[in-house]
Order: sequence, then structure tokens, then C-alpha cells
Amino acid sequence: MNENQLSERLKRVGELVPERSRVADIGSDHAYLPVALVLQNKIEFAVAGEVVNGPFEAAKKQVRKNGLTEQIVVRLANGLDAVEASDNVNAVTICGMGGVLIRDILDAGWRNQRLQGNERLVLQPNIGEKPLRDWLTEHGYTILEEDILEENNKIYEIIVAAREKMRVAYSEKERLFGPILLKKQSPIFQKKWQGELKQRETILAQLAKAAGDQQARIQQIEKEITEIQEVLSNES
Ligand code: SAM
Repeated sequence: MNENQLSERLKRVGELVPERSRVADIGSDHAYLPVALVLQNKIEFAVAGEVVNGPFEAAKKQVRKNGLTEQIVVRLANGLDAVEASDNVNAVTICGMGGVLIRDILDAGWRNQRLQGNERLVLQPNIGEKPLRDWLTEHGYTILEEDILEENNKIYEIIVAAREKMRVAYSEKERLFGPILLKKQSPIFQKKWQGELKQRETILAQLAKAAGDQQARIQQIEKEITEIQEVLSNES
């Protein structure tokens, strides 16, 4: 590969990684991201962590093929266990997984102190952004940047977070839609939430026909529909 062969999704993630940082890329199938960042001379050191043997071997091969074994250490490990104190990592990327899995990886790293709390996090959940933002908020992180993009008919969000002196209390709404995405209201954001709205309307129609007491679920979906409609009509 060369530094230009990243997917648009990983290219955007790479742009949000701070220059000259020491990166841990967790779930680093093929080590595409760290290899591209080192080839771009954007970073000098990375750990590529993988828990599954196949992607781990693919990552090792990719690093060797590009002659980067001095700059990129590939480790077979669960989540942030791939990171050692002597790596002096100050940025963590976790991409292409569900938000709940990313949250669980961060939480385990927090509890066993592989995550020090001073790293810049660049996270790209495929779904489940809300539970991830909940965890970030509960652990004192500020969301510094967010992006949303579409590639191959899929919409992806990117969240950049760090622990700052001033703690921000994000509202439920900000954690659902993304505090920065909510302000930017890009066309892709609108498209995503139009889709989410449709999905909820379908669920509501099904619930209306369903047997048993669906009242609580119906009320919840109706609340979400109103909230999405408000955001889409810019009444936020
Ligand atoms: N990060 C790459 C990307 O965004 O294109 C690869 C995404 S791939 C869909 C997810 C990768 O995460 C898989 O290779 C999987 O083995 C790895 N993975 C899942 N859970 C993990 C964990 N707890 N620790 C390390 N890697 C994990």
C-alpha cells in the first residue's frame, strides 16, 4: 500500500490524529491506518493492536512489506492491553467497530490503567455513538471535534475527545446527535437522521398493530421522533 490508498473513512480519521503523536491503533486489521500515517511522515511511532490472529498476521505482514518494523509494533492483545507504559502513547484510534465495543475497550483500558486519560482519542464507531458519548461524558472527556461522512452507501461518524480542565456536561440530545455535528448540521447529518426518522416511523406503525401493552415503547419512540423532527427542522 501507499499513503494514498486509505478509505475515505480512515483518511478522515488520519487527518484528525495530531501531528507527531505516538499512536495506538486498536483493532488494526492490516495496520492500514498506522502504516499510512508513518508513510505520510505524520507520526513516527505506532502500536497496532489486534485480538484476532488473522488480522494480526495481516498487520504484521503489511508493516514488514512497507519496511516499518522500527516504527510500528504489532501486538496480539485484547483492546488497550496492547499498550505498554514505555510506548508513551498520546493518541488512541479505535475505528470500524460498534460504539458499544469501543466503549467497552476504553472502559477496560481505563480500569486496568492502560488508558492514562491524557491521550487524544480519535474514535470511529459504525453504530452506537450514543453509548460511546455517554462513556466519554461520564469519564470527563470533552468532545473536541466530530465529523460525519458517507462512503459506499454507509454513513460514519468520527469523534475526537480528550480530557480537558473544564468538564462539559453534555445533554442527552448532544450525546445522541453529537454536540458538534448538531451545530454543523451538514447534509450527511441531515440524511442520516432522515433515515433514523423513517426507521422509527416504521417501528411505530408496527407497534400500533402489535399485541400486548406497547404503550411505554410507543411513548419512547414518539419522543424520539419529535426530537429528531425538531433537530431536522433546526428548532434545536
Ligand atoms: N480499524 C480498522 C478499520 O477501521 O478499518 C479495522 C476494522 S475491523 C471491522 C475491526 C477489527 O477490530 C477486527 O480486525 C477485529 O479483530 C478487531 N477487534 C475487535 N475487538 C477487538 C479488541 N477487543 N481488541 C483488539 N482488536 C479488536
